[in-house]
Amino acid sequence: MNFSESERIQKDANEYILGGVNSPSRSYKAVGGDAPVVMERADGAYFYDVDGNRYIDYLAAYGPIIAGHAHPHITAAIKQAAETGVLYGTPTKHEVKFAKMLREAIPSLEKIRFVNSGTEAVMTTIRVARAYTKRDKIIKFAGCYHGHSDLVLVAAGSGPSQLGTPDSAGVPESVAKEVITVPFNDIESFKEAIHHFSDQIAAVLVEPIVGNFGIVEPAEGFLQAVNDIAHDNGTLVIYDEVITAFRFCYGGAQDMLGVTPDLTAFGKIIGGGLPIGAYGGRQDIMEHVAPLGPTYQAGTMAGNPLSMQAGIALLEVIKEEGTYEQLDALGKKLEDGVQALIQKYNIPATINRLKGAMTLYFTKEKVVNYEQAENTDGEMFAKFFKLMLKQGINLAPSKYEAWFITIRHTEADIDETLAAVENSFKEMSLV
Ligand code: PMP
Repeated sequence: MNFSESERIQKDANEYILGGVNSPSRSYKAVGGDAPVVMERADGAYFYDVDGNRYIDYLAAYGPIIAGHAHPHITAAIKQAAETGVLYGTPTKHEVKFAKMLREAIPSLEKIRFVNSGTEAVMTTIRVARAYTKRDKIIKFAGCYHGHSDLVLVAAGSGPSQLGTPDSAGVPESVAKEVITVPFNDIESFKEAIHHFSDQIAAVLVEPIVGNFGIVEPAEGFLQAVNDIAHDNGTLVIYDEVITAFRFCYGGAQDMLGVTPDLTAFGKIIGGGLPIGAYGGRQDIMEHVAPLGPTYQAGTMAGNPLSMQAGIALLEVIKEEGTYEQLDALGKKLEDGVQALIQKYNIPATINRLKGAMTLYFTKEKVVNYEQAENTDGEMFAKFFKLMLKQGINLAPSKYEAWFITIRHTEADIDETLAAVENSFKEMSLV
């Protein structure tokens, strides 16, 4: 495969754009530092780069593209929206229709607000929870990513009763001290943190199914226990469903798992590929937000007609019967195929999969928390990533990300992918 045009463009990008990318996860730093491939167009399950190479895409833009690239129904909605004005700064009927569709799918959304990114959505749920409880501290789980606002860029202290430390330069120590980080799937550590800080804890922030150190499901009873312990302490439960909403069922992970949070943050999928975020939840809590209450949150672009209509169109597409069965069937075919190849080539790897989302970890151990994901073999992943890319399979350039299947992937795409996995494993088992 020839990448010369990608390399030329990236050289230019490095001149003008900081680090050559507009989000650090797009760089290939974690997989050896080559110039990232520059894509020119996308259609269905495929990407085409500026050198004319074709790829089967499992990045799906880090999640949003569940209906595949340039889905005709969504594209038509965006075109129609563009022709009638892209931004009004006034209410529109589309916001109302979309909010109604979301509440029908996710009943805990008694009231909702649209924002522009997952980062904004999570940041605001924390502010609202602090306003409602009149407490300042939050608990989050290690390795879960909740956007790039100060409060969630905090690393764990040395134990569940320790305050956090900044996980990014520029986050003040004073902010990090408001956050306690405990291991996912470890209810005892959560309990210890709650008991230690008791009436200081405003909220616990949870990815109900983790998507940010690979796909990691909650242990049996874990989410219910988090809910019960938090509520006994007067602490609100916030779900970050930026990845999980509409990923595993038509609704939130909360609907699939039968556990209800007080507030939920959304992003990604619900915009059909356009910039979006949303947050919502219990009416009595949401009433603390302006203009009804004293908690401020606003946005010039919030609820813009383009994102609203793209989001509505996306929900219309995935509401079709069979969407999640199809994603699951393709996911199973991929998982079974890769699993057989792991055995055949004796590769130290393990798979976590739920429906159409899967992570291949280079470790023999089952991954249930961040520490285990961190300890997987990054060099092996980097080798695998490059071998796959050269065979036209586009994965996220990080060992922590998921492979996302879209409704436009076919069995033939999975077969082609498995052939590439076999070639890659063959090469890796020789070295
Ligand atoms: N929460 C989760 C669970 C995420 O995965 C992400 C993005 N990867 C965010 C929040 C932040 O969303 P955004 O990039 O739209 O700000």
